[in-house]
Amino acid sequence: MIFLDAAATTPVRREVLEAMWPYLTGEFGNPSSHHTLGESAARALADARASVAAALGCRPGEVTFTSGGTEADNLAVKGIALARQAADPAVNRVVISAVEHPAVEESARYLERFHGFSVDVVPVDSYGQVTPKALGDVLRPETALVSVMYANNEVGTVQPITELAALARERGIPFHTDAVQAAGWLALDTKALGVDALSISGHKLGAPKGCGVLFVRSRTRTEPLIHGGGQERGRRSGTENVAGAVGLATALALSQARQQDQQARVTALRDNFVSAVLSAVPGAVLTGHPTDRLPSVASFCFPGTSGESVLLELERQGVVCSSGSACAAGSEAPSPVLTALGIPAEVAQTAVRFSFDSYVTAEDLAAAAAAVGSAVTSVRALGAG
Ligand code: PLP
Repeated sequence: MIFLDAAATTPVRREVLEAMWPYLTGEFGNPSSHHTLGESAARALADARASVAAALGCRPGEVTFTSGGTEADNLAVKGIALARQAADPAVNRVVISAVEHPAVEESARYLERFHGFSVDVVPVDSYGQVTPKALGDVLRPETALVSVMYANNEVGTVQPITELAALARERGIPFHTDAVQAAGWLALDTKALGVDALSISGHKLGAPKGCGVLFVRSRTRTEPLIHGGGQERGRRSGTENVAGAVGLATALALSQARQQDQQARVTALRDNFVSAVLSAVPGAVLTGHPTDRLPSVASFCFPGTSGESVLLELERQGVVCSSGSACAAGSEAPSPVLTALGIPAEVAQTAVRFSFDSYVTAEDLAAAAAAVGSAVTSVRALGAG
């Protein structure tokens, strides 16, 4: 099987599992317990936090472990907006981009439904980018928070985060970025990026599902969403997932160590793959930004097919990919991300996303490109499946 769906999830890396193993077995203590087992777990958690902080260029106290990217996004959007509203009820707007993951978009809609916020959606251009002008146009004195993702999960477009964050900062508005897809590929130095909050998910990086991180700058107040024993400095109660935190920290450190080499290598492989697919499939269109894009994502529309049929045919040929984002899979409606890029519904229905981890090989991608050519030809011959 050639697995080209790494933006959905990745396997746990051996080094990550080995680092986690002690905390799932012999060193199984609760970090809040006052005995040696508990203290050993607390030390492991502190080490994992310090390691994540080093990767993000922040202080350990600014790192909150969560149950994944979705919770990190919820905590950032709802937690920061609610804390700001509590301090000043006039602050009642949130700004998100038109291509956010549902974890951000639905958090903003929740604030609208239950807490009296208005949601301002910043449009993107046809490549999926938010321009500083478009963001500047929607910022108001009442804006509680801006949330714009670092890199998009469906088309791979990378946002000009440093510029966008600077615009919000000039107006004293906290800026959150969902870096779930960017982690492992792009610089995550939170100081250089100038962001106030940033989300990461473990399972996109070779750690298990169900662990994530939210960085929140210390001066930014956050209302907790999960109440209880006050773990994670009161930001997120619940007994910590020690093994998950160790796994995420190990995976993040590993991916950062490999990043420089793999970024250039995988970008070159992706470019070859894109050219091979475009020449194998007449009429194919690459979606997203031509250059400001993740090394790991190539997504296309194949007019005259349905994305689902191409997906099935590719799987029959041993290539696994996605017809859009995993979260939207199975839904009949065209992807809101592709719609926001101005792609008509009938073309958006033909979208297929290929996404790679940093272990992808030239041989696999050459075989996959050939399979795409024959899969699209068969689906078209059957009349759009
Ligand atoms: N944000 C983005 C951009 C994603 O791609 C995903 C997962 O696909 C998430 C958030 C949610 O992360 P998790 O699966 O860890 O909840």
